[in-house]
Amino acid sequence: MSEKKQGSPRANKHVKLYIPGPTEVRPEVLDAQTDWMIGHRMPECLELIGRIRPKLGHVFMTKNRVLISASTGTGFMEAAIRNTAVKKVLNCVNGAFSDRWRVITEACGRENEVLNVEWGQPIMPEEVAKRLAHGGFDAITVAHNETSTGVTNPIEAIAQVVRQAPNGDEIMILVDAVSSLAGVAIPFEDWDLDVLLTSSQKAFALPAGLAFAAVSDRAMAKAKTVPGRGWYFDFLTLEKYLLRNQTPATTAVSLLYALDKQLDDMMAEGMENRYARHLAMRDRTIEWAQSRGLTLFAPEGYRSPTVTCISNDHNFDIPALNAFLREKGMIISNGYGALKGKNFRIAHMGDLQMEDMEELFAAIDEFLAN
Ligand SMILES: *Cc1c(COP(=O)(O)O)cnc(C)c1O
Repeated sequence: MSEKKQGSPRANKHVKLYIPGPTEVRPEVLDAQTDWMIGHRMPECLELIGRIRPKLGHVFMTKNRVLISASTGTGFMEAAIRNTAVKKVLNCVNGAFSDRWRVITEACGRENEVLNVEWGQPIMPEEVAKRLAHGGFDAITVAHNETSTGVTNPIEAIAQVVRQAPNGDEIMILVDAVSSLAGVAIPFEDWDLDVLLTSSQKAFALPAGLAFAAVSDRAMAKAKTVPGRGWYFDFLTLEKYLLRNQTPATTAVSLLYALDKQLDDMMAEGMENRYARHLAMRDRTIEWAQSRGLTLFAPEGYRSPTVTCISNDHNFDIPALNAFLREKGMIISNGYGALKGKNFRIAHMGDLQMEDMEELFAAIDEFLAN
């Protein structure tokens, strides 16, 4: 960046992030990271993690463990496979991130079957039921919110068909909620999920570098029987330390300071209000797009509360649009991978407010008028 302010803690020009991660982090939360360094075995750090744990449980809607790792969410995707999947995994793929589950499953040497669904469409429970009817599966992977297409999958209904399948109560339901958790209600216990994971830099609106995962008793019991779980991401080791308000290796203390502050702010907003704010921003984004003659990539009923994928029906030059927005201190996302140019994505995720969305729409309208 050309406009470095020497000596300022924030030297780069501010570009407000309307991309689906990393998301905008409020200055107060950035500042929380600058507290004094402490050792991860010092009482101060144990108190910090002790404060964080119940608040994280509230956000994950569980009274059980929420593991914390100094990594991104992808680390816990790999952990979920290594700790709980032995026989055969059903990878439900309808976009780039759910496909990452397939890649990880194969990279860990696990046998798998892939349920491939056209990008932009949801994973339907009936299709999952058909595949599971063959039997032999001990895990299923799915992305709750496909960030590449703006589709939210019906996880509750999918979990129900899994439990009804042959040996359904032994199948691990592994859910990537990286771009939705903390922006959308995901009742981990009520939906009977096994691993529900996320990263700090999406709907949590924190800097990148932490990952969180709720893990069921069923998954913990399974892990005990699985050889070769490794060490850094071993669920049993992570839980053993968590129960003492510690982490096995050095933790990212500065990020935990920011997390502690952000969780307090989330509780102050109220999770129900936070979810409602995301839905209101989603609905407003859809209304804005449709009023400009643009259609949506995701079908009605499956449109993401955190990121909207808009078809580029009028063939806008999206890089030119983003260059224009950058001048005004904003940025959106082009379509993902092969969808580049065919659609574009506007995130309404984390701590963005309706005023931020209006500011963005006004700027895009200005670009379109010229
Ligand atoms: C961003 C994203 C990921 C990758 O997260 P990392 O934090 O980079 O590991 C995985 N899944 C989904 C749905 C995402 O949006």
